[in-house]
Amino acid sequence: MNVILVGPPGAGKGTQAQRFQETHSIIQLSTGDMLREEVASGSELGKQFKEVMDSGTLVPDDMIISMISSRIGKDDCKIGFILDGFPRTTPQAKALDQMLGEKELKIDHVIEMKVDDDAMVKRITGRYTCAQCGAGYHDEFQQPEREGVCDHCESKEFTRRDDDNPETVRSRLQAYHDQTAPILGYYNKKGVMETVDGMAAIDDVTEQMNAILG
Ligand code: ADP
Ligand code: ADP
Ligand code: ZN
Repeated sequence: MNVILVGPPGAGKGTQAQRFQETHSIIQLSTGDMLREEVASGSELGKQFKEVMDSGTLVPDDMIISMISSRIGKDDCKIGFILDGFPRTTPQAKALDQMLGEKELKIDHVIEMKVDDDAMVKRITGRYTCAQCGAGYHDEFQQPEREGVCDHCESKEFTRRDDDNPETVRSRLQAYHDQTAPILGYYNKKGVMETVDGMAAIDDVTEQMNAILG
């Protein structure tokens, strides 16, 4: 099963994709995580990515497309994948169709996570992740069971993203409406679009997704 999650920054794509990776044995492919790995490596390319990401705009299509294309070509993706943060533009969506077509694969579900923009600033500014295993948390909405200790790996170290600040969030929301929302129409025409209420509590969103994905 191959799935795409679409929604603005803070919609809950990463949170739900992480859960589905655990419960449905499919692989979470996050282009944001891939870009952050390149930034962390300290490479020249990583420095270019960081500048773009910190400005809240999108990395050029050709760079993202070649990155995801080599990732989808790997054997572990054959069991299925859940794309989180890709495609984000119509050229990316078209390139994805082409690369899947060549491998005789297809997208089974595109799920739009509908949310209110106004609520996304709070979600983004309260977001943090475990530095060791990458599990996602929120200051208010998703606290670990024991304060300061990761539920999954017991690490006590957490990180916050440089681009998770109120100023950058506004450009990222703008980029979503201008450049990403048009892909919803593209997938609607193909008859693979479904919608969940991303304003519901995290467990309720998972239930809505389960109803779609089985
Ligand atoms: P969010 O969790 O806010 O949706 P991501 O982690 O998916 O954010 O992405 C962070 C940043 O990485 C984006 O603001 C953008 O600069 C870049 N990025 C991630 N995925 C893509 C993509 N598919 N195309 C272009 N830029 C991307
Ligand atoms: P995205 O990947 O779409 O940018 P995340 O999954 O990282 O979004 O979620 C953003 C922040 O909001 C995280 O800190 C997460 O814990 C929290 N969050 C995710 N889903 C919900 C929800 N349904 N209600 C409240 N908070 C949520
Ligand atoms: Zn952890």
